[in-house]
Formats: sequence, structure tokens, C-alpha cells
Amino acid sequence: MKAVRLEAAGQINLCDVDKPRPGPGDLLVRVEACGICGTDRHLFNGEFPSEPPLTLGHEFTGIVEEIGRDITGFREGIRITGDPNIACGHCDQCRRGRVNLCRNLQAIGISRDGGFAQYVIVPQNQAFVLPDDLNPLYGAFCEPLACCLHGVDLAEIRTGSSVAILGGGVIGLLVVQLARLAGATDILLITRSAEKRRLAESLGATATVDPNDGGIIERITAPDGLLPGGADVVIECAGVAGTVEQAPALARHGGTVVILGVMPQGEKVSIEPFDLLFREIRLVSSFLNPFTHKRAADLVASGRIKVEPLISRRIGLNEAMEAIRNPARAGEIRTLVLPNLG
Ligand code: NAP
Ligand code: ZN
Repeated sequence: MKAVRLEAAGQINLCDVDKPRPGPGDLLVRVEACGICGTDRHLFNGEFPSEPPLTLGHEFTGIVEEIGRDITGFREGIRITGDPNIACGHCDQCRRGRVNLCRNLQAIGISRDGGFAQYVIVPQNQAFVLPDDLNPLYGAFCEPLACCLHGVDLAEIRTGSSVAILGGGVIGLLVVQLARLAGATDILLITRSAEKRRLAESLGATATVDPNDGGIIERITAPDGLLPGGADVVIECAGVAGTVEQAPALARHGGTVVILGVMPQGEKVSIEPFDLLFREIRLVSSFLNPFTHKRAADLVASGRIKVEPLISRRIGLNEAMEAIRNPARAGEIRTLVLPNLG
């Protein structure tokens, strides 16, 4: 079969490899779609720890083609989405229920072969069933959605809350939709691209702001601003220093800031602890998708999260390498790789 393999940092190839065989408890999945995420580009650039050589791709969905021994609850022919993050279950963090902080965490597409291939092996514990009649590409959004669900859970959005979201990529646009489903009344998205602002408004944002217009904190939090006094909840989804620094200032006194965006390791930002303390801002970070993948699968299956407008391009494996080697194109939200295309 064909697979896009990371050989070493800076080196990926489209390879012919043996079709994998499912071991006990494993499913062999024919991949229908796998999203290209910023992490894949970081892995290619050697900016994220990984264990090459391996096949990349951690946002995958597909059809179960063969089941290994000792499988319960899955059969051949069903559609699944894979949770790539595999916790060991026996370390101290797993035994505290903090599986995303597992000391032996492995991830499909990061530390073992992933979904930029015609087939991927998925341990049954990592697989979640999707409906037969779901668009075959939509399951590729379950992984990013599951990460957003964890962030939104930590944000504790309540019915009637006001929410400000920084960054309008796939994460910001999924968080807009989750905030709407969580019952937020005011949902403000801050992002530079006019196209993404328009899209956010069609997906549930009640207002959008272009940060390039300047003075965004004043424009949002002033008495005559968009959210006078600030937002109940601010969710940082850009992963850049400027927005991480802005986030506390956008929160009301007693508000919550959730950091979902990933900044480069070692990079620092300037935060004023006095302000956090004096205004009792709750600052939380959100990592991966502990126990949220099933809800993400159910939400995608229900159609209540719109993913079609988030698909920028559908490409084959041969085009995937160029897409991973280069930064995201202007306006790109999610590019899906269809490994069995043509
Ligand atoms: P993305 O497509 O790169 O989106 C980031 C967005 O931030 C861009 O669309 C950009 O849009 C916007 N942005 C950049 N600078 C900005 C600024 N100064 N003000 C406002 N918006 C700005 O990435 P993504 O896939 O949505 O992911 C977002 C972040 O979440 C990344 O850092 C990613 O690594 C992280 N992530 C975290 C988790 C987790 O578990 N915590 C899981 C998945 C992803 P404009 O050009 O329109 O401004
Ligand atoms: Zn563990």
C-alpha cells in the first residue's frame, strides 16, 4: 500500500509499504480521509517530538476492513473515527484519570503509523463508530473537535455566557460552534481574515473583530464595547504570543481564560500576575482530548457541528507531501488527504 512516511526531520516520502495486519484487539481500517494539521507540519520540521520513521496522520476516519482476534463491538464494513492518543492505563497519571497526561502516551501518526496511508491499524479501544450514511470525510474532524470539547469543558461555559475566541482556524471555528451549543449568548471571534470572520458568523458567532483594526481590548471591553467589562470566557485558539497576552485583558473580573493554542516550545509571553490575581482570572490550559472523542463522534454524526465549510481542499497521497512540507495556504482551514482516491 502507499503511505506518506516521515523518515527524519525535514524528510518525507511517499512509500510502498506492506499492508499492515491487525493483531489481537486491533482493527485494520481502510482510510477514507485524514486531515493535515499544524502538528504534521511541526513534525516534518522537527519542532515536535516524534519517533521516525513512521507514517504521519492523526486525524483519520475510515472503514473497518479486517478485525483481529478478541474484538467485541466492531465488525467489518463499519465506519469509525480513531482517537490517536493512546494512554497506557497503568501509570500514576492514568490512574488519576488524567489520561492526556499519561507518562507513556503514544499517538497514532506521531509515535506509530498513522492515517496518511491506504490502511491504518487502530486498537479497538481507540475506535468510535460513525453512521454508515455519514459523509465519509466528516469523521476526520472528530479529533480536533474532541480537543476543542476538552477546552470548552474546562471553560465551563454556561447558558447565557459571553465567550471571546481568539483565532479563526479550524479550532476557533469549532469552538465557536461548541460555544453556541453550550448556550452562550454572545460569541465573539477575533481573527484577521475577512473570509474566516464571515464563516464564523454563519456558524454561530454573534460578532467578529479584525485585530488589525487596532485597539481590540478597548473596542471589546469598554462600556460601549462589544462585551462591556469583558467576556465571561476567553478561549485562545491561535497559539501566538500576541493573542495569549491579549486573552486575560479580554476577560471580565472573575472570568476564565482557556489556552488551547500551542505556542512554540521555549517561547515566552508577558502576563501580569497582579492583574490575574486582583481580578481573580482563572487561567487554564487544555491539552488533547481526554474522554471526549466519543462525544465528538456523536456530535459530528448528529450534524450539529458543521464541518463541510471547514474543508478547504481534498487531495490524494501524492499531493499530501507538498501540503505538509509547506505552510498552510492563505485562507486554508483544513485540507483532507483521501489516501484511496483514484
Ligand atoms: P490554524 O489554522 O493555524 O489557526 C490559527 C488561527 O489563528 C489562524 O487561522 C489565524 O487566522 C489566527 N491568528 C493568527 N494570529 C492572530 C492574531 N494575532 N489575532 C487573531 N487571530 C490570529 O490552527 P488550528 O488548526 O486552528 O489550531 C489552532 C491552535 O490550536 C494551534 O496552535 C494548534 O496547535 C492548537 N491545537 C491545540 C490542541 C490542544 O489539544 N490544545 C489541539 C489541536 C490544535 P487569521 O489569519 O484569520 O488571523
Ligand atoms: Zn499512562
